[in-house]
Amino acid sequence: MSGFVFTEKPIPIDHGEGPYLYSDDGTEYLDFGASYACSPLGHCHPNVIRAVKEQVEQVNFVQASYPVDVRTTLYDRLAKLAPGDNDKVWLCNSGTEANEAALKFARHATGRQQLVATTRGFHGRTMGALAATWNQEYKEGFEPLVGGIEFVEYGNADALSEVVSDQTAGLILEPLQGEGGVNPGSSEFLRRAREITTEAGAALIVDEVQTGVGRTGSLWACDAVDIVPDILTTAKGLANGLPMGATLCREWIAENPGSHGGTFSGGPVVCAAADATLETLLDNDLPDHAARIGEYLVDELETTLGDTVRDVRGQGLLVGIEVRHDANAILRELALEHRILALPAGRTVVRFLPPLIVDETHVDRVVSALPEALAAVES
Ligand SMILES: *Cc1c(COP(=O)(O)O)cnc(C)c1O
Repeated sequence: MSGFVFTEKPIPIDHGEGPYLYSDDGTEYLDFGASYACSPLGHCHPNVIRAVKEQVEQVNFVQASYPVDVRTTLYDRLAKLAPGDNDKVWLCNSGTEANEAALKFARHATGRQQLVATTRGFHGRTMGALAATWNQEYKEGFEPLVGGIEFVEYGNADALSEVVSDQTAGLILEPLQGEGGVNPGSSEFLRRAREITTEAGAALIVDEVQTGVGRTGSLWACDAVDIVPDILTTAKGLANGLPMGATLCREWIAENPGSHGGTFSGGPVVCAAADATLETLLDNDLPDHAARIGEYLVDELETTLGDTVRDVRGQGLLVGIEVRHDANAILRELALEHRILALPAGRTVVRFLPPLIVDETHVDRVVSALPEALAAVES
């Protein structure tokens, strides 16, 4: 295998359609994670393809200081859909870049240095976002990273109130931790985090790179708990598989963002993809659908798996099963024997991040394959 950085799976992909991926030899795989939350509408959605084709022929790239209709439309749409008044938009190409911008904006707008992050949080792999990421394994060999970052226990509001002060530029957290093991934050904790940062004059940065764009059953996970951050970051599903990230923020952050920039910010082709994605997502009520199907998935998993697993948890279509065995062995079994692709979240959690278009029949197929996959690993 020729991959330079990644370890490759023995499943060469030829094409995709809806919730399915097809390998070179024509085998159909149900994608419950292979696209990493990046295809909320399913693979190769016709609306996105059409928008991209039209835009790539009209003007394929021009830098963001020259207005282009498709970018202006996307800015407006994001501003309208943003939680509360997070209507100032910075566009980039990935989740980690969206977080880099957020951390820079928070420092610049407050004139303060300290940043606070949470245990088991994941924010990306560039130097700043990596410094705000908890798991030491991701950092080994890359230090020193960005300094001035302190960690508090995720879920512990009292610890948070001890650490966040008038020295704090910002607190960054996920409303539901994805990579860290699918750990939902309680609404109580998230609301306290909002109060504590407001009192300290610090920016609350909600990282919705994985949870955003409808995945957890509302367009943004923070909508469901009624909190309005100062900065919201998103990426993964935003352009249905094309690379785009966004940092949305309030006026007090935006009026003093410093001299941040990026050559590819808001390229017309990815803007077209993102605009078509958001429009289609909302026209089809996919966040509501994700809430409903996600609940069905969790119920079916709990009923079928019972005590054979440690826990089933999640929100919408971001669901984890804490297993009693090596998650990767189970994933291998699911992929090779049952043609279902999913993801780990740490060593003991099997994670599902399917396109939001999946229905009960897809869920049934996954749930009925699991007892056999678990048994195969146990023996
Ligand atoms: C994936 C992820 C990131 C990093 O996004 P990239 O596009 O891989 O840089 C950041 N935060 C969260 C919560 C993520 O899930």
